[in-house]
Amino acid sequence: MKDLRIGNGYDVHALADGLPMFLGGVQIPSGRGFVAHSDGDVAIHALCDGLLGALALGDIGKHFPDSDPRYKGIDSKRLLEQVMNLVRAEGWTVGNVDITIALQAPKLAPHIPAMRQTLAAILGVEPAQVSVKATTTERLGFVGREEGCEVWATVLYRPFEEII
Ligand code: MG
Repeated sequence: MKDLRIGNGYDVHALADGLPMFLGGVQIPSGRGFVAHSDGDVAIHALCDGLLGALALGDIGKHFPDSDPRYKGIDSKRLLEQVMNLVRAEGWTVGNVDITIALQAPKLAPHIPAMRQTLAAILGVEPAQVSVKATTTERLGFVGREEGCEVWATVLYRPFEEII
């Protein structure tokens, strides 16, 4: 039987005026969004890096290079789906994920249930297995100055056969 596998992911994107804000697969009402080659969903990017990292499969930049025009403006949910195809092909399923988003504004609490639901559906698990937490940084650092958003994701896999 395979062992458990654990991974972590981290990502940062800069904030800019006039862009749509996507986090955890959900559009957040805000006059600002994340500067990126894709739709800038920094939470999904960190999650993808955790999912890939647990299997030593590199990172999101290796699989979806930002020099590739196919990924310009892409919905990051599509990237997560592709990562999950790799995960399943390797014979793993998600045990649980835990995501921490550091953003000064807007408040994310009202959107967390939708993020958990959206991510769980793509990961093929129940929302109870997907934790999303949000924090400010008490106005400290680049997050506190509202210059960007920082996200950490931890991922634990179980082998497929264990749950059949
Ligand atoms: Mg990114």
